[in-house]
Amino acid sequence: MAVTRTFSIIKPDATRRNLTGAVTKMLEEAGLRVVASRRIRMTREQAEGFYAVHKERPFFGELVEFMTSGPVVVQVLEGVDAVKRNRDVMGATNPADAAEGTIRKTFAESIEANTVHGSDSEENARIEIDFFFDEDEIVG
Ligand code: ADP
Ligand code: MG
Repeated sequence: MAVTRTFSIIKPDATRRNLTGAVTKMLEEAGLRVVASRRIRMTREQAEGFYAVHKERPFFGELVEFMTSGPVVVQVLEGVDAVKRNRDVMGATNPADAAEGTIRKTFAESIEANTVHGSDSEENARIEIDFFFDEDEIVG
């Protein structure tokens, strides 16, 4: 298995509860390395663009409201099979369905306020990393 990269967001429900470090610790303990990180307040345009694949879904408007409701931490994570490794430690979208020991089971408040985003494929990881980071901001 090759060392690859994925894209992560620590969402507003987590920054509000001061969980940036706790979430990052779980990512690191899962074998992922933070090779880029920036705390930002997403603009509406950024959130709508980032989640454009979901724009026909009924929760799109609320999701954009939520993601712009407070600071987020955008990160590039590196590790062996990083996309899958990150999805595994994140847990299911709905914390009620998430496995014990996952980030969402441990911290998520709801199916919407579910603490972390993680890319769902290598292709989307590249697109999402490029959305927020220049290559010279990523230091492996
Ligand atoms: P994941 O983040 O696990 O990849 P999706 O890509 O399906 O999940 O959804 C993107 C985000 O939209 C979720 O992380 C969550 O914040 C929100 N979301 C998903 N499903 C719902 C829902 N039924 N109601 C409200 N928000 C939702
Ligand atoms: Mg998704």
